[in-house]
Amino acid sequence: MPASRYRVVLTVLLILAGLLLCMHLAGRVAEQRAWDERSQEARGQLQLYAQAIHTQVQRFRSVPALLALDSDIRQLLANPDDQNLREQLNLRLEAQNQAAGSSVLYLLDRHGETLAASNWRDWSSFVGNNYAFRPYFLDALANDSGRYFAVGVTTGIPGYFLSSSVKNDRGEVIGVLVVKLELEDMQREWVGQSGILLISDSLDIVILTNRPAWRFRYLRPLSDEVRERLVAVRRYAEQTLQPLPSDQVQQIAEDSEQRLVEGPDGRRLYLWQRLSLPEEDWTLHLLQEPQQIAASVRSYRLAAAGVWMTLAFLLLFLAQRRKTRRIEQRNRSELERLVEERTRELHTAQDELVHAARMAALGQMSAALAHEINQPLTALRMQLASQRLLLDSGRTDAVREGIGQVEGLLERMAALTSHLKTFARKSPAGLRQRLSLAEVLDQALHLLAPRIRSEGVEVQARVPGDAWVSGDAIRLEQVLINLLTNALDAMLGGQVRQLHIDCVPERDGWTLRVADSGGGIAAEHLEQVFEPFFTTKPVGHGLGLGLAVSYGIVRDLGGTLEASNEGAGAVFKLHLPAAEPGHSE
Ligand code: ADP
Repeated sequence: MPASRYRVVLTVLLILAGLLLCMHLAGRVAEQRAWDERSQEARGQLQLYAQAIHTQVQRFRSVPALLALDSDIRQLLANPDDQNLREQLNLRLEAQNQAAGSSVLYLLDRHGETLAASNWRDWSSFVGNNYAFRPYFLDALANDSGRYFAVGVTTGIPGYFLSSSVKNDRGEVIGVLVVKLELEDMQREWVGQSGILLISDSLDIVILTNRPAWRFRYLRPLSDEVRERLVAVRRYAEQTLQPLPSDQVQQIAEDSEQRLVEGPDGRRLYLWQRLSLPEEDWTLHLLQEPQQIAASVRSYRLAAAGVWMTLAFLLLFLAQRRKTRRIEQRNRSELERLVEERTRELHTAQDELVHAARMAALGQMSAALAHEINQPLTALRMQLASQRLLLDSGRTDAVREGIGQVEGLLERMAALTSHLKTFARKSPAGLRQRLSLAEVLDQALHLLAPRIRSEGVEVQARVPGDAWVSGDAIRLEQVLINLLTNALDAMLGGQVRQLHIDCVPERDGWTLRVADSGGGIAAEHLEQVFEPFFTTKPVGHGLGLGLAVSYGIVRDLGGTLEASNEGAGAVFKLHLPAAEPGHSE
């Protein structure tokens, strides 16, 4: 059917669409969650790094400030040309630098000239160099202290410069003490770590990283003005600054996003997490590749697909079951309707059959009745003729007596015809009356009286007057007439013709027994006598319907009809339920 095929295709399409949608949504949720989780992890990691940097820097912050209070230093600044003092201070700075673990410790005068330095022995000694252009020097002059990340002009090694001003007793700045920290050790420690760690300065230029190739790349474009200033302060010395282009894909949180980065090793997607270090004016960055995210998205999608399919199949199963139930119900009610229809048809057929059988019996009886009525008619004619003679001779007493006899004859005939009328009538099915078995039997015997008399049958009927049964008079009479007719038929050729009828109370009802002396029913026929159209009588005499119809009637009345052989003939036992006491219609 095209309609149902269309429905199947639609269902499959719907399931598929739902599957895709589910997987898509689950994937998105999983992705979002995974990114959030990674971002959370990265935040924690960055905080650890920030802590390490902070501790490292903090350790050296106080070094120049403390040294600034030293009297030797002030003395040298007062007498910069004192060679002895210079040597002494060089040695002291060298020792202190070693003790503190910093890279270089040095003293500048008010003009930025290096008077003494811990690395005075090296080829790269700062002594004699002028660093007046460095912001850490200028900051210390103006604000007592400064901090600055730059690539060493002399050494070419990047470092963090922390400066502190040295003042004379009058509070005037007479020099600046500087400690340089080379954070290379820290940077080396990071090399093995997962992810890319960057530290950018206030201009967003990468100053430290565990990927050497990414160092000194700027994260946001630099204006020409800024570039010029950088050259002036020689912040990144001779390093050429290159960009690190990247595009934001999606913002995850305020401090994290997905970014496509055009790194030295190609274009890649990273989770980019930031943490600012306000004290240093730096920003820490952690870039991680989202490998596990794909795996977690995949497993979420699979799980969603599984759940969706289970749900879809469950729904399909339920729908199918409902449909099957509906069909079953429809079939059942259809079946019930058919059964009802057939039962009704059967009932009608049975009623027809009963009627037909009765008419057949009527036909058989009418011959006997014609003979029976003929007799009184002849008698009547003779009576009337003799009455006329008696009248002529004026014997009115004799006439009155004669009229009485005529009335008797007429009554007999009226009784016969009234029975016939009742018998031919079709009784409505299901009628229940309170009946006296004795009366119904009397009526039946009355109808058959002519035959009984002419065939010289001896009848013994003993039915108690309180044998009340529930049934339908006309139908019950038909049953009795059938049984009696069959008995008379059976005894037709016999020498002894005895009909015994009695009635006994039994099992909530009454059992009427009709026994004849007609030789009984052949053993092989006992089972068949109630079958329709079973007859042993010659053609034209029996229809084989009498017992079948009787059986049906008795069953409808709630009783039973059985056949057996006893003594010289057959016995038919008719059991009927007793009528409710007092109930009469
Ligand atoms: P029908 O009288 O038209 O044959 P019935 O159904 O009344 O149809 O009877 C069926 C058959 O049962 C009879 O032909 C007869 O062989 C058998 N039968 C019925 N009553 C008796 C009886 N009292 N004695 C012997 N045979 C009987």
